[in-house]
Amino acid sequence: MIKRMPELPDVTIYVERMAARLVGHAIERVTIAKPFVLRTVDPPIEALVGRPVVDVRRLGKRIVLALDGDLYLIFHLMIAGRLRWRDTGLAAPTRKGKPGTTGTPAVPPRLVLASLAAAGGTLYFTEAGTTRRASLHLVQGTAALEAFDRGGLEILDADAAAFAARLRSENHTLKRALTDPRLFSGVGNAYSDEILHRARLSPLALTGKLSPEHAEQLHRAARDVLTEWTARLRADVGQGFPETVTAFRDGMAVHGRFGRPCPVCGTPVQRIRYAANETNYCARCQTGGRLLADRALSRLLRQDWPRSIDDVE
Ligand SMILES: [Zn+2]
Repeated sequence: MIKRMPELPDVTIYVERMAARLVGHAIERVTIAKPFVLRTVDPPIEALVGRPVVDVRRLGKRIVLALDGDLYLIFHLMIAGRLRWRDTGLAAPTRKGKPGTTGTPAVPPRLVLASLAAAGGTLYFTEAGTTRRASLHLVQGTAALEAFDRGGLEILDADAAAFAARLRSENHTLKRALTDPRLFSGVGNAYSDEILHRARLSPLALTGKLSPEHAEQLHRAARDVLTEWTARLRADVGQGFPETVTAFRDGMAVHGRFGRPCPVCGTPVQRIRYAANETNYCARCQTGGRLLADRALSRLLRQDWPRSIDDVE
């Protein structure tokens, strides 16, 4: 299955479920199974042990575990990194990943990068495949934490004027602007496709030429799509912990749906492929019926398309 980087809705649900389990509980044990994942040496990772978790928050697409003593453990899932929770008793991974006693599958040990035991369970940080891009940083002090903030605007906290100002701060395609972590926080390839479809705007429209009405339309679409998907994922997970943060979700309008009917107009969904990315859009709803041919776009894309959208953060 093709993976995608978890974005604001997915990361928000991880944060909420981690907070529900961990806040107020001390870390009992930390295990680094794959040394590459830990990118910092000072403070040492053992400094976590015995410290209560005081907060869990999202920083862009990263997850921050704040611990007593001004320590921050920063998870970056990248594309294939995921988090899983197992209550003690189910926590020990079995060699074959056989189901535990309550039917929750054990976490396959080969996937485990690191684990934290606390609050009657274990949080596993896993990564599928061999890309080794997921990372863990342990830093001390808020100044060290702020170095991980890419500066993107939080769309759900921003009014229409702030959104439009940020959008116009640089001239880019809408696709590029929405997915640039320096401009907007937490949006990647999947939700940018969904937002642009909802706004009925072309992924290749330029921010510098966008009318005030279209900027407002995009703001509303971004807020609606992110809010709706967060609520939907929250309802799916309930009091549990997310098990399947997958590539493409049923219910998305265009992302991952090349050739399938647009839910609004029934026209087959189109795609633009560039490097490792695919952008999906509906020609009828978003580009006035015009197909955005891959070849004709190459010059524009070279100039104004992230080489890989998932590389930009
Ligand atoms: Zn359509």
